Amino acid sequence: MDKTGACGASNRGSNPLEGIRENSNCKSQISKSKVKINFMDLSTPVEKIPYVGAGYQKKLKKLGIRNIRDLFFHFPHRYEDFSNLLQISEAKIGEKVCVLGKIQRIENTKTWKKKMILTTALVKDDSGSLRVVWFNQPYLVNVLKEGDKICLAGKISMGPEGLYLQNPAYEKIKTFDLSKDKLLHTGRLVPVYPETEGLSSRWLRFIIRPLLTKLKNKLKDPLPEKIRSKYKLLTLSEALFQIHFPSTKKLAREAKKRFSFQELFILSLVVLREKLKIAKENAFSIPIKLEIIKRFVNSLPFKLTNAQKKVAWQILKDLEKKIPMNRLLEGDVGSGKTVVAVLAALNVVKAGYQVAFMAPTEILAKQHFKEVSNLLKNFKLKIALLTGKESKINRKKISRKKLLEKLKNGEVDILIGTHALIQKEVKFGKLAFVILDEQHRFGVRQRAKLCQQPNFIPHFLSMTATPIPRTLALTVYGDLDLSIIDELPKGRKKVITKVIPPKKRKMAYEFIKGEVKKGRQVFVICPRIEAKNTKSLGWAEVKAVKEEYKKLSEEVFSDLRVAMLHGRLSSEEKERIMEDFKKRKIDILVSTSVIEVGIDVPNATVIMIEGAERFGLAQLHQFRGRVGRGKHQSFCLLFTDSPAKRTRKRLEALLTCEDGFTLSEKDLEIRGPGDFSGVRQWGIPDLPMASLKNLYLVEKTKNAAKEILSEDPELKTYPLLRKELAKFRERIHLE
Ligand code: ADP
Ligand code: MG
Repeated sequence: MDKTGACGASNRGSNPLEGIRENSNCKSQISKSKVKINFMDLSTPVEKIPYVGAGYQKKLKKLGIRNIRDLFFHFPHRYEDFSNLLQISEAKIGEKVCVLGKIQRIENTKTWKKKMILTTALVKDDSGSLRVVWFNQPYLVNVLKEGDKICLAGKISMGPEGLYLQNPAYEKIKTFDLSKDKLLHTGRLVPVYPETEGLSSRWLRFIIRPLLTKLKNKLKDPLPEKIRSKYKLLTLSEALFQIHFPSTKKLAREAKKRFSFQELFILSLVVLREKLKIAKENAFSIPIKLEIIKRFVNSLPFKLTNAQKKVAWQILKDLEKKIPMNRLLEGDVGSGKTVVAVLAALNVVKAGYQVAFMAPTEILAKQHFKEVSNLLKNFKLKIALLTGKESKINRKKISRKKLLEKLKNGEVDILIGTHALIQKEVKFGKLAFVILDEQHRFGVRQRAKLCQQPNFIPHFLSMTATPIPRTLALTVYGDLDLSIIDELPKGRKKVITKVIPPKKRKMAYEFIKGEVKKGRQVFVICPRIEAKNTKSLGWAEVKAVKEEYKKLSEEVFSDLRVAMLHGRLSSEEKERIMEDFKKRKIDILVSTSVIEVGIDVPNATVIMIEGAERFGLAQLHQFRGRVGRGKHQSFCLLFTDSPAKRTRKRLEALLTCEDGFTLSEKDLEIRGPGDFSGVRQWGIPDLPMASLKNLYLVEKTKNAAKEILSEDPELKTYPLLRKELAKFRERIHLE
């Protein structure tokens, strides 16, 4: 047992004996350790660390800890404040205190029901004595002996025999003259870690502390000194020490800030360097042909909104440049993104180049094909559709082979298909512009592959109805320029939104029946089910849909035509069901959340969302956008069984707010960035993920990244930073 009595003995109820066995001579091992271990090398595996036997290795692995680095970056999720050192006589009932004293007496007794062993001790200092009680930790009498000096931390309770300390954290000490920093479990801010069974915070403290002490001030810091001093950041060593064993709360915050800063800074560097890389590529410069654009705008059955005009101009100006455009076009459902993309596409075609237009699903590809053909019907272009089983140019069916040939020869102006257009055999003769619906990134290499002149990278426009909060736009999407349509076409009817508590469910069903009687159609969205592993994720959703479908088709709406749609159906089945729905052969479509965001069925006037509390506000807003597309008044019914007032309140934001951006910022505030589509899959660790909420920090880190890159774009003078960037790329997969 070491001098602090800390060897693995837990005060948190997990089995401490194993720890004691493993650590039976920890003191001698730690100081006299014969094996030379390079603690400076953070990739040293945990099995090289003293006291980490096979059992602990397994448990550490469970927490994702394999080497010293992982251990250091296993940050506490909170701190227990035991820094309040008091004289025993000052201790008051209910207070969290820390006292120093000498053990007068310690013994085990059984409680009268014989169910529990109590260890009771009497501890004394100059001012008085205090009773201490531990439950079910009989081994303590072997660890703590009469006459031992001890530091105890816990809450003061009142029992029949007066004040006492119940289950306090304890730590043996040599003298009463202590400098706080030597304490691990008491007398300070004590780190509390994410734990796993049999692996307590107490044990982690005991392992981490000596490693940190050895490394103090020796670790090389990847953050440039210049950045550190400008933004007042702790060094890596200091920050590691302070995040695990903070001297003050302020320093704990400073440490956390430094790590958030570092991760966001590196994220910004990765993204900005991507942008610099693209800027070095060549693209075809597309002149702006104003007469054609005017003709197009005049041919439309509606007037473009100011927002549409503004973003169209941004896109045209980008297309004029000799470097590839990399732009994200954001706009609420129904804001009219397609017509803007088509305007740009027309300009590209008239300059003699080809355009690829990709949609996330075949149904949407077909829908786009129809819409694009319709919008461009006065311009005599060759517009082609290519899906898994269909290939045609304008109205004419044509074999896939023929189509690909024509594409290569430049006899197709605009090719519309799914994201699967990116295939070896699909080659454009002179591709200059790629439009992608609902997928944010499309790598330079992927783009180059589509084209027969791989030295020319096509311009790229991604369209999304997912509003991206500012912090995410600045960081993870920082390589993309943003165009935002922040205005809906005039005369759109507001969708009436209602939160439906359980007692109004019947009424809501009656209302839906009424709408169907009037000839309208209904979407039912089933809740997203949180499943433990991603494999079963899809299935859990399918199950929810199936159950809901059964209930609605057999009981609630047994006289109506109900169908079901989910991601596990074959694409033919899906397509058939969607077609049937569009053709009004189905009244009520029960579906998962994941499919066909952009589907256009103007006759659908009700969208009913089950378990609405499980969705983000921005996503609910997108669902809502599936109705309200026709001339009839539409409704969005948010069903929730959650009695929590907070939940209701959150949902009610939708009743008044029509703006996807505001809602997405609210989501970010309430639920964090993990909820944004795909964000969780990026693999960004918790800390920087949480700091993605912090606009101030995000802006600072982005500026810092710009400063470094403007002076040294290749980071030649910062090898450590380069290394971190490489590691970051391994860990993180931005879509
Ligand atoms: P989204 O941004 O969701 O992709 P769409 O481009 O599908 O929106 O447009 C939705 C509908 O609005 C389409 O039927 C389109 O023709 C129509 N539309 C687009 N712009 C305008 C406008 N300025 N005024 C009226 N209707 C418009
Ligand atoms: Mg769309």
